Amino acid sequence: MSEVALLEYLRIASNYIGNPQGNHRHSREALAELDGARERVASVLGVSPSEIYFTASATEANNIALNVEGDILTTAIEHKAVLAPALSRKASVLSVTSNGTIDRDAFRRLLKENGDHLKLVSIMAVNNEIGVINPVEILGGMVKKYTSALFHSDGVQSANYFDLKTLITNCDLFTLSAHKFGGPKGVGILFVREGAKVKPLMLGGAQERDIRPGTVNLAGAVSASFALAEASLKTNDSYLKVQALRDRFEDSVLASDSRIMATISSDTPRSPAISNLLFPGTVNEEMLFLLDSMGVYASGGAACASGALDPSHVILALGYQPKLARSALRFTFSPDLTTDEVDEASQIVNRAYLKLAPLGGGVES
Ligand code: PLP
Repeated sequence: MSEVALLEYLRIASNYIGNPQGNHRHSREALAELDGARERVASVLGVSPSEIYFTASATEANNIALNVEGDILTTAIEHKAVLAPALSRKASVLSVTSNGTIDRDAFRRLLKENGDHLKLVSIMAVNNEIGVINPVEILGGMVKKYTSALFHSDGVQSANYFDLKTLITNCDLFTLSAHKFGGPKGVGILFVREGAKVKPLMLGGAQERDIRPGTVNLAGAVSASFALAEASLKTNDSYLKVQALRDRFEDSVLASDSRIMATISSDTPRSPAISNLLFPGTVNEEMLFLLDSMGVYASGGAACASGALDPSHVILALGYQPKLARSALRFTFSPDLTTDEVDEASQIVNRAYLKLAPLGGGVES
C-alpha cells in the first residue's frame, strides 16, 4: 500500500466505529467519510459521485457489470473475471491479432452486421498478461455509433499510467481494483454511467444503492480513494520511469537468441509496466521456481483446478502452440525499482534460462 493509503486506512479503521448505513451519529460520521471517498474517486474519473460503487474486488465489479440478459461481445484476451461471467451467459468472443490487438475493421463490420442483438460489449483497457493497450475510447465510440449496447471496460491495469477521464469517455461501465494503484487488497470500484442499468449479483441489503448489498469496507474505500487520487497525479512520471526500466530489462534479456517477446511487434501499444517473454525449451513452472529461489518474482499462466499451470489463454490467443505458450513468463515493473535491481533481475533471468535450456531451446511450434 502507498503511505497515504496506509495512513488513511489506519485513520478510518481506528476512529470510525459506525456503519455508514446506520442512523446514529457514528453512522453519519462514517457515511460522510464514504461520501468523501466516492467524491474523490469520481473526481479522478471526471464523473458524478452517484456513478461510483464500491465492491470487494474488481472480479465482483466485473461480474456485476456483466450481469445482463442478452448477447455479450467480449475478447479472447480478457481476464477470467470477465471471460468466465461472459461465457456463463450468451457471449461471442472476438479473436485478436498475433500482437494481441483488435482488428478495428473486423470489429466495425461485426458491430454493423450483428450489433442490433448486443446488450453489452466488454473490452479491457490494458491486458494484464501482455500489457497490450486497447484504445477503448475509440472502440467504445464505435459501439455507441453502431449499436445500443452498453460498453464496459475492465480498467484494472490502467490506473497508474493513463488518464482515466479520457479513457472512460465512451464507457458506460468501468472497473478498477484498489491494490493495483497503491490501495488495499479487497476493494473494487465500479463506475456505472447515469442511466445504464445494472443488476446486483447478491440480494439482501440496500447498500451501494442496491447494486452491491453488504456492509461497505469503509477503511478500504477511503484508503483506495486516496491511493487513486495520488496515483492519478503521477501517471506521466510513473509511465516514463517504469517504461525505461522495462525497456532496459527487455534489451538485456532479448539480447541473446531464442527468447521471444510475446507481442512480437515492438510498436504494439503496451503498458510500460508489463513484459511477457517466452523461453522456448522450458516450462514456466520450472523457470518460476528457479527464479523465485534466486530472488526474482515473476508469474506464468493461470492456475487451473489441478494446481498445474495451463498455458495462458491470452498467449494461446496470440496464436502460439500450447508447448511454446507454456514457456511464457510475465514480469511486472514498479516505478520504485532501481536500475541496479532491474539489471540484477535480467542477469538472473538469463542465468536461469541458460541453466534450464543450455542449448537455447530452439523455437518450437
Ligand atoms: N482484471 C484484471 C485485468 C486484472 O489484472 C485483475 C487482477 O489482477 C482482475 C481483473 C481481478 O481483480 P481483483 O483481484 O480485484 O478481483
